[in-house]
Amino acid sequence: MNAIGIDIGGTSIKGIVINDQGQILKKAKIPTTAELGREHILSNMGSVIADLLASQNDVLGIGIGTAGRVNTETGDIVYATNNLPGWQGVNMKPLLESEYGRSVFIDNDANTALIGEAWLGAGKPYRDLTMLTLGTGVGGANMVRGELIRGALWNGGEWGHVVLVPRGRLCNCGQYGCMEQYVSGTAFVAAAREVTEFPYMTGVEVLQDFIKGQPQLVGMVDRFLDDLVIVINNIHHSLNPQAIIIGGGLVDSREYWWGLLTTKVKQLQLGIEVKSAELGNLAGAIGAAKRVFLSMEG
Ligand code: BGC
Ligand code: ZN
Repeated sequence: MNAIGIDIGGTSIKGIVINDQGQILKKAKIPTTAELGREHILSNMGSVIADLLASQNDVLGIGIGTAGRVNTETGDIVYATNNLPGWQGVNMKPLLESEYGRSVFIDNDANTALIGEAWLGAGKPYRDLTMLTLGTGVGGANMVRGELIRGALWNGGEWGHVVLVPRGRLCNCGQYGCMEQYVSGTAFVAAAREVTEFPYMTGVEVLQDFIKGQPQLVGMVDRFLDDLVIVINNIHHSLNPQAIIIGGGLVDSREYWWGLLTTKVKQLQLGIEVKSAELGNLAGAIGAAKRVFLSMEG
């Protein structure tokens, strides 16, 4: 059995065809600027799906992960922050189901990343898990006894919009002080620009100067990791998962900072496992496809 998984990210749309044994049969990717809005995203996603279907006919269904709160029963995007203009209220499910003649499953991107990691990655040994994705925003997802906790209004697990700093920075959601404004990949680069006044574009550029001992960056990275440890501590004291998996773009450069993070976490003596995502930037697409197989299990 094969399924398509799509991950709509802030800077690209990634897609795969995968079988129910977890073997990836095909990949496709297109750069995307999510801020350009609905039509741009939908047409780029259409190209990715067409590319994937071109050589694969035996695809049972399509799973899609996207930022925002998603009603997974109807496929409605019930809420999206204002950096995704026109995304709130979109429902791709009926449109895509009639276009491709296959079932379509839509979910939040961090939820799909957690489903992917739990299936084939760092989450395999656990049933009580939290996922954080540190990328354009901060995504969050919670699994309790093997079940995703989506919440009454589909907002469960939105760790990125839990307040970390009272009256802090204005977030794309309209609140002040959300975690996303402090521990996302975007926030990481912004903080580096602020302390150095150098126009860094990527986290890796920042980290390469950080390991050379640039003093402002040493302080900045330390504060960033302290903030992340507060988030981990809060998760431990609310859901008490067996493990927290950290993924998203910033984790691609973890060689520079992972050891520092785990040292800080150990100092708290919480007894919680903090693991880096193993499926890299494909976790979301893999988990989205897994939704198709899960639907067949009933
Ligand atoms: C959105 C979340 C999403 C996360 C990662 C946040 O800004 O509000 O729904 O999961 O970014 O894409
Ligand atoms: Zn927010």
